[in-house]
Amino acid sequence: MTMIPQNRSALEQEQFLKILSREDAIARFEAALFPRAILSEARMLADALGTVLAEDVTAPIDVPPFDRSNVDGFAVRSADLSAAGEGSPMRLALNGETIHCGTPPTLQVVAGTATPIATGGPLPRGADAVVMVEHTQPVGPVTIEVRRAVSPGQFVSYAGSDIARGEALLRAGTIVGSREIGMLAACGIAEVMVARKPRVAVISTGDELVQPGEALAPAAIYDTNGAIVAAAIDENGGEAVFLGAIPDDEAKLEAAMRRALVDADMLVLSGGTSKGAGDVSHRIIGRLGQPGIIAHGVALKPGKPLCLAVCDGKPVVILPGFPTSAMFTFHDMIVPVLRRMAGLPPRSDAKVSATVPVRIASELGRTEFVMVSLVEGKDGLIAYPSGKGSGAITSFAQADGFLRINALADQMPAGTEAEVTLFTPHVRVPDLVIVGSHCTGLDLVTAQLAHAGLTVRSIAVGSLGGLAAAKRGECDLAPIHLFDDKSETYNTPYLVDGLELVPGWRRMQGIVFRKGDKRFEGLGATEAVAAALADPACIMVNRNQGAGTRILIDRLLGGARPEGYWNQPRSHNAVAAAVAQHRADWGMTIAPVAHGAGLGFIPFAEEHYDFALVTARKQRPAVQAFLDALDSDEARTALEQAGFRPA
Ligand code: AMP
Ligand code: MG
Repeated sequence: MTMIPQNRSALEQEQFLKILSREDAIARFEAALFPRAILSEARMLADALGTVLAEDVTAPIDVPPFDRSNVDGFAVRSADLSAAGEGSPMRLALNGETIHCGTPPTLQVVAGTATPIATGGPLPRGADAVVMVEHTQPVGPVTIEVRRAVSPGQFVSYAGSDIARGEALLRAGTIVGSREIGMLAACGIAEVMVARKPRVAVISTGDELVQPGEALAPAAIYDTNGAIVAAAIDENGGEAVFLGAIPDDEAKLEAAMRRALVDADMLVLSGGTSKGAGDVSHRIIGRLGQPGIIAHGVALKPGKPLCLAVCDGKPVVILPGFPTSAMFTFHDMIVPVLRRMAGLPPRSDAKVSATVPVRIASELGRTEFVMVSLVEGKDGLIAYPSGKGSGAITSFAQADGFLRINALADQMPAGTEAEVTLFTPHVRVPDLVIVGSHCTGLDLVTAQLAHAGLTVRSIAVGSLGGLAAAKRGECDLAPIHLFDDKSETYNTPYLVDGLELVPGWRRMQGIVFRKGDKRFEGLGATEAVAAALADPACIMVNRNQGAGTRILIDRLLGGARPEGYWNQPRSHNAVAAAVAQHRADWGMTIAPVAHGAGLGFIPFAEEHYDFALVTARKQRPAVQAFLDALDSDEARTALEQAGFRPA
């Protein structure tokens, strides 16, 4: 690693800020940090569970410390009994002591004698074997008879046979579990040197951030990275010290970073790493210590703005602001370094092979991570891409793992057999797989299955995507709401062989507006839209192409393209949010969502939300449980309360 001169010219700096490949960035970061001594501390055995040994431990004594009897019986000289047998019993005279555990023997076992000894008792001088009490007969008070031959060393554990003095007992890097604690205790070791968890300061940056538990002001969002990064640090052998969210203010942030570095072994920030106007954290790093920034911009997706630095020996990292980007870069680039500092072995994440059912586009030149949900297909696992974009945090919870698309590929074709790195140690294939259109009512039905211990995976890909998955046999049920113009009916015309319709519920679609808006209050849907079109100041919010709702909107608009037509969000809730926040004045959503947002609602058309059931999967217990739940009074009541009408 070449040192960067203290007064870099602007040109050198510019050059330094060019995008590195993932592999280059890792190599340079590690070269600037390692080798280094592991931070260590002494721990009493009782507090050592789960720590990592910082140094090799050598056995200070033999275990057992003396030749020890393994059974209750008599210490003997094997030569006396080598010829003993059923037909040739041998008699031995008993010596005048009994060796209990913890009692050192005093008498020698001479030829023709035996000394009573307990399990764990030290073998007396002269004896070389033990006879079990069960294999002897008393003959008077001080004599025994033995009717089987005895070999040297029988029922004796020799000193050091378990652990020999001077032997390497445990190696540095071993994670201390109950077995290791047992070995240390057997050797009399009360205290061990273990790796001290690296203290990692965590700072979130951004004017928009508030902490969970606080009220959400307009345009503010909850600080997600603070919590998730702190937890991931603790999961990987570090000790996170969360210092809160700091506004995008260079002086305040620099002060916070300097304070953090006094005690911390590592500093992890998130946000503010793009080279945008308000983004200041990377500029501060250059002033915090040498060599400073190692990589700013890595060819990763998500995660390009990642910034890696080393300031006077301490890693300083700025993760991208979007939580998913922050997590991927943290796991891919920071976890290996953190674990190495913590003395831990590299993570051994479980991997499985799965088929990708759809083509996944990828940006050429960037290593791309794609979160996937696993379902069981006809011949093996299927990996559905489940990302909702780098800003989505829920995709992490719903995904089972991720796959990686090479920087040199511009896509992963449908049908590719891909390696999936799991988030959990084992694949958890869900009991019930639902792929298709999402509806909040679905949770009200599947809640019963979850309470019964069944796992349900619901993947939102829209009605048509769900139908395709059902045809390929990749799901149990596909929720759909597709209107057929010709027959003027919902859903049934879309079914093919192998699929059957399970009626779900009806959702009232209608015009949503802010209560009190005179343009809409008291009107029917058709008149309301006419009134909106008559007012040039009135802004609408549309829905995405392919949504069932969009078909209804287009029908009402009859070819008109008012202001807001090109605002086409992908969910019922986004429509309500746009109206509630005055970004639009009207749109179309379902009644429960409008009411939930406290908005006015004009009913327009009742939509049929049904399920295409894969007949071949009908007898599965989880499918039966779903059908029972759908039919239950409990689900019907819950659906009605939420504003749906069970079919
Ligand atoms: P930035 O890198 O600061 O420009 O942030 C990129 C995006 O991530 C913005 O939408 C931020 O609001 C968002 N973001 C930044 N930090 C956080 C955080 N701690 N929690 C949740 N979102 C964040
Ligand atoms: Mg920011």
